[in-house]
Amino acid sequence: MNSKEVLARQTRTVTIGDLKIGAGHKIAVQSMCATRTQDLEATERQIQLLEKHGADVIRIAVDSKKDVEALGVLRKNTNARLVVDLQESYRLVEKVTPFVQKIRYNPGHLHHHQKNVPVFDKVKFIVEHAGQHSCAVRIGVNFGSLDPASREAEGKGVDPKEVALRSVEQHLEFMDKLDFKNFVVSLKSSNPNDVIDINEIFAERYPEIPLHLGVTEAGMLPMGEIKTRIAFENLIRRGIGDTIRVSLTLPFDEKYQEIIIGRKILSDIAEGRFRSVPRFEQEGLNIISCPSCSRVENEAFIELAEKVKELTTSLQDENITIAVMGCRVNGPGETDDADLGLWCAPNHVNLKKKSKLLGAFSYDEILPRILAELKEMTGRDDILDAA
Ligand code: SF4
Repeated sequence: MNSKEVLARQTRTVTIGDLKIGAGHKIAVQSMCATRTQDLEATERQIQLLEKHGADVIRIAVDSKKDVEALGVLRKNTNARLVVDLQESYRLVEKVTPFVQKIRYNPGHLHHHQKNVPVFDKVKFIVEHAGQHSCAVRIGVNFGSLDPASREAEGKGVDPKEVALRSVEQHLEFMDKLDFKNFVVSLKSSNPNDVIDINEIFAERYPEIPLHLGVTEAGMLPMGEIKTRIAFENLIRRGIGDTIRVSLTLPFDEKYQEIIIGRKILSDIAEGRFRSVPRFEQEGLNIISCPSCSRVENEAFIELAEKVKELTTSLQDENITIAVMGCRVNGPGETDDADLGLWCAPNHVNLKKKSKLLGAFSYDEILPRILAELKEMTGRDDILDAA
């Protein structure tokens, strides 16, 4: 970071190990290991690469007891500040808090397991264990994975931003009841304009609560950086944002670019170098792709995302959104708003056209099928030549 540091607004302080965020502290930059957590060699290497490039906090996915065991081994070999995303397995919090400095939970994922246990009790369980080990907590709401009640409200025409805010507000009430203050909130969407709007509203309503910023599934370079930059420039220059992540679809060995690009954006904002237009122009082709994580079941996902980008080179003026997701867990929900949605399994790729499931295709079959769908949607025959 250069001499003019970007300072956050005066929220309360949140402590992540020896790192303090909010309340005017430096904005922290986070990234995530995309490797399988149990692949110790690969994950350790990824932690080292991210640390070497200046990651303040490194996220690791933990979905099973075996992942927890792996996390214990990784912990012994690194001093990095680690954060675990609990996904659906909220009870694992008990096992992971001794090893990490921060826990993330998604309110939308607390409805999958133990449906008869009230969500408040689940949050209480998470917060009690986080508190015992001085871990910070992130309440991470994603537009693509809202809880069932929020989805129902959305289906009835309530503005998705209002729905996401209601979801997080319910959890703020929980935190109040539990008297837990060491938490941050994130409100993420793949649409930078939604990220700007919802974080502005939240910051105005709750000026004391630190915010983690990100455009989820921002996709591949260069568009992934552009989308993120637009959101961050709009928010951070107004003092909104206390930690950031740039979520990019990258080969595993290049994940550290998320840190480099995040720091560059912060540095540019600090120097008053704004590169983007004030808002994201929605016109034209929009490819959304997830940044991948240990849930990716076939690394061919990253290559597939690149091939979809190549295939659509000549379609830049077409108003089509294509979403390419790395796993079967979040893929179906995260592709809901796309014209064509793909999510990857070990040996096949699921394809959805709007809300209609077209089927499962092998990795060899999927591109020709996408091509056929694109030809039908656009009435154009020149797509293959351009690809
Ligand atoms: S869609 Fe799946 S693979 Fe991609 S980041 Fe989300 S959980 Fe990980």
